[in-house]
Amino acid sequence: MLTVAEASERILAEIRQLDVESVPLRQALGRVCAEDISATVTMPPWSNSSMDGYAVRSADITPVMSGELVKLRVVATIAAGEFAPRPLKRGEAMRIMTGAPMPEGADSVIRKEHTDGGSAKVEIRDAADVWKNIRQAGEDYQRGDVLAKRGTPVRPALIGVLASSGVAEVKTFRRPRVAIISSGNELVDIEDFDEVIAQRRIVSSNSYTLDALTRVAGGDPVDLGIAADTKASLKRKLESAGDCDLILTSAGVSVGDLDHTRNVFAALGGKQKFWKVKMRPGAPLAFGMLNDVPWLGVSGNPVSAMVSFELFVRPALRKMQGHSALFRRTVTVTVEEEVKTSAKLTHFLRASVTRNDDGTLVARLTGHQSSGALTSMARANALLIVPETSPKVAKGSQLKALMLDQSLDETSVFPL
Ligand code: AMP
Ligand code: MG
Repeated sequence: MLTVAEASERILAEIRQLDVESVPLRQALGRVCAEDISATVTMPPWSNSSMDGYAVRSADITPVMSGELVKLRVVATIAAGEFAPRPLKRGEAMRIMTGAPMPEGADSVIRKEHTDGGSAKVEIRDAADVWKNIRQAGEDYQRGDVLAKRGTPVRPALIGVLASSGVAEVKTFRRPRVAIISSGNELVDIEDFDEVIAQRRIVSSNSYTLDALTRVAGGDPVDLGIAADTKASLKRKLESAGDCDLILTSAGVSVGDLDHTRNVFAALGGKQKFWKVKMRPGAPLAFGMLNDVPWLGVSGNPVSAMVSFELFVRPALRKMQGHSALFRRTVTVTVEEEVKTSAKLTHFLRASVTRNDDGTLVARLTGHQSSGALTSMARANALLIVPETSPKVAKGSQLKALMLDQSLDETSVFPL
């Protein structure tokens, strides 16, 4: 049996970045740049006003500081989208709007509120804005500057920067297509809920959770439905997954008489790399390669499947997409109750981690820790990590918790 870290290393060693594709700028959100992108223009392209006011020459208005009355002739109005008709001369002012290009010869913009607002002549009443309120050409970036390096995740602000530089299409790594196969004679899809009401079957909830986890990880799920617990059925499903970038099966990888997945995988020519990890839930994890397509076989237990996904599938999908930050963070938490585990395995317990007023993080278990009890997973925002070496952890002790979402960073209270 491998440790959790060994299993992760063995999987990631086989995972390659996917090929590169150009996508329209808006669709690049959440993807990773596959090449360095340089600016084709300079931003701002010309020095422009950051205020509505009057473009002036500083020499003309410094007398205001010693109490002199200064009146300037208003010779033009420059709105955003327009250019000054001519350079500014001594004794003149031009009305200027925010974003409008500075006239040649002007070096200050006096905000409207510091003037009498005149249109033929303007009286300057305050010289506090001397030299101010100009955004210099190129102060944001200059033509040729690298706006994003290969490997940079595309976030909203970068989308804006790229738009400003005319990047209509971005070369990014492709999103992985993830074949999701559930298996088990006890399972039905939600359309056949009659069978559940009749108490003959259960819904394949893994078909839904693994789909959702795949989307959150930036992948595109391809639901291949439910295989029966027969070799023929599993074979058909695995064969139809060939054009995906990762095959994710759930169930049938333990030691039950009907756990055929690993055998069928081998019969199809798949090379199993390892089976079983020293963890709970999720010990019966299988990993292998089927014609260059990685396969992860997670346990069917709904929580095991999700925990295995978080620890092993998510980082693999992120690596395929060109991310370098593959993993979620752990945080140090104080446990608010005694925690006991039985087997000599690393345990991942469903927990709710919250921040106390003093900033410390505390963890409470969210309920029944059976690997089938999905409601406690639904209430959890973290997995409390109980090392194999400490099967009993006293209340008030510190442990690490693996965060599962951004909930710690979000609040119902306005932050300022
Ligand atoms: P297995 O991995 O086949 O031994 O299944 C372990 C447990 O997970 C059994 O209780 C199954 O009924 C349950 N299970 C398997 N697949 C699914 C699924 N797709 N959705 C919900 N439960 C499942
Ligand atoms: Mg089964």
